[in-house]
Amino acid sequence: MDGLEESYGAFLCERREEILGRISSAASRSGRSAAEVLPIAVSKTVSAREVLLARRAGWRAFGENRPQELSRKLAALEGEPECADVRFDMIGNLQKNKINQVIGRVTLIHSISSAHLAEAVSTRCEARGIVADVLLETNVSGEGSKSGFSPEELVAAADGVVALPGIRVLGLMTMAPAGDADAARRTFCGLRELAEGLRARTGLPLQTLSCGMSDDFEIAVEEGSTLVRLGRCVFDQGYALR
Ligand SMILES: *Cc1c(COP(=O)(O)O)cnc(C)c1O
Repeated sequence: MDGLEESYGAFLCERREEILGRISSAASRSGRSAAEVLPIAVSKTVSAREVLLARRAGWRAFGENRPQELSRKLAALEGEPECADVRFDMIGNLQKNKINQVIGRVTLIHSISSAHLAEAVSTRCEARGIVADVLLETNVSGEGSKSGFSPEELVAAADGVVALPGIRVLGLMTMAPAGDADAARRTFCGLRELAEGLRARTGLPLQTLSCGMSDDFEIAVEEGSTLVRLGRCVFDQGYALR
């Protein structure tokens, strides 16, 4: 390990401590336990080597948004004993022709954004004799640029989607509008309420809420997030936590 890596490793450790402290404070502000929140290090912009350094700094869960990059990272880290206990999640837009690159290789797919995609993933999992854990990505804020089920579509599709044999729906995922703390809070709160409604409707636990990124993870934790997806604040030395 060279000097540059050493100082980057030290940055990763310090930053992780800072992030965990903030998650812990946000959890206690809303009467939750920090143990309910799993922070995921979004490694989409960094190399496999940086994932290894992050693992040494204590990160165990990583998120990728492109199947090709996921495959590259998995190949690079294969046989790396330090990374044997590492988990990868798929957090980004998933095209139907890339499903087979993802299923069976990730712990959780956060980004099931339509009933069609849910059916396609289920069918491919059935063919492989596996069941994929998934979240339903929901466009709570209604921004046109965001993908996912609208709240109305989600309610309409829920019964059919949760009955698909090749997937297990563990909860919901959303992205908040950027740069607006109040809108972020409304979005995360809306996600939690949608999950509560779906719980009553389906009888499923649906306990996983994937929301919160570098700019808004503390708000997300206050509003009930169980998975925060953190990219820049974990890996980018130029990113200042506010
Ligand atoms: C990149 C990405 C993140 C992380 O965003 P940061 O603002 O860098 O923390 C989270 N979720 C998804 C779906 C992403 O694509």
